[in-house]
Amino acid sequence: MSEKKHQAGKVSRRGFLKALGVGGAAALAPAGTALAASERVPAPSGGELATLLDLSKCIGCGECVSACRESNAHKFPEPVKPFPELIPARRAKTEDWSEMRDRDDRLTPYNWLFLQNAQVDYDGESWDINIPRRCMHCQNPPCANMCPFGAANKQLNGLTRISDNLCMGGAKCRTVCPWHIPQRQSGVGLYRHLMPRLAGNGVMYKCDRCYQLLDKGEVPACISVCPENVQTIGPRDEIVAQAKKLAKGMSGFIYGLEENGGTNTLYVSPVPFELIDKAIDKDSGKGAGQGPQTKGQGKGKPAGKGLGPGKPHMGPVKDVMADETNLATATLIAPFAGIAAGVLGLGSRLLKSGEGGHEE
Ligand code: SF4
Ligand code: SF4
Ligand code: SF4
Repeated sequence: MSEKKHQAGKVSRRGFLKALGVGGAAALAPAGTALAASERVPAPSGGELATLLDLSKCIGCGECVSACRESNAHKFPEPVKPFPELIPARRAKTEDWSEMRDRDDRLTPYNWLFLQNAQVDYDGESWDINIPRRCMHCQNPPCANMCPFGAANKQLNGLTRISDNLCMGGAKCRTVCPWHIPQRQSGVGLYRHLMPRLAGNGVMYKCDRCYQLLDKGEVPACISVCPENVQTIGPRDEIVAQAKKLAKGMSGFIYGLEENGGTNTLYVSPVPFELIDKAIDKDSGKGAGQGPQTKGQGKGKPAGKGLGPGKPHMGPVKDVMADETNLATATLIAPFAGIAAGVLGLGSRLLKSGEGGHEE
């Protein structure tokens, strides 16, 4: 029988801190962590930032999920109902998560981070791995390159954002994202004012890496709240070096170095990611596949599996933008996106004055 080597427990942050007799998460920062929660994050002009997630540390407490929801609640959609009837009605479906705002077992417009679990037997031992999942913040993000309205953009500091004042909700970003990360809410955004029956039908939402905190030199909410210091953020070259050192030390593996040509999110695990991916798929999950719509969100895994719409895989990913067709499409889109962004900028000002956008 295999020995249980890594068993994640359910420990609250408060209980954990009390048990250690310390006053704050900053006190838990391990020696050698380049950027602990209490430290300043380099300004955007300092180059691309990346995050490192050490999966050997995550206890699955969910504090990061709660912190993400609280910190970003002011950006969540407040749809106007009833939704405009779409043309053609059979092809264009509305997606409404507003009555399911509490769902935290998958990505939704109201939940930008969730936890997956993988029970893995590897190297004669059993492992219980918790995996915080959200946007990978790709180095060459297809969601931004292929957005026809220029609503999705990669910033100088390496994060990718979708502007809720420009997004028409067409979900191209979700289709081309290798992990199908962005999630749509209908009844909100510019389309209601411009082409309510013909265009898009909402706004796409995902992790924006707490840009409002990064802009102030502060650490994203999910990082600062973690009692185990699972995540580290810093300049990409330093994070890559740290990830390689960590992986070497635990004879482990890295996800994000090569996937989709490289991402600014690096996971380090003591077990191979192909086993994690298989184990996630076996996870009974809680309602995978349920929700307003599943089209374009994955490979149509049946309900009850740990993978599926809003529940991204952890398998191999080729560089989407290396594809000639995608490159050509992105080149064609680029000028139009600039014009569209300018035209829609006017619309977004209308939107702001009319109903109050979330854009800062
Ligand atoms: S990353 Fe940290 S806060 Fe999130 S579940 Fe793991 S241990 Fe808890
Ligand atoms: S993971 Fe998907 S949504 Fe996130 S930056 Fe990459 S392509 Fe865009
Ligand atoms: S970086 Fe911010 S928006 Fe992204 S998952 Fe963490 S808390 Fe949520």
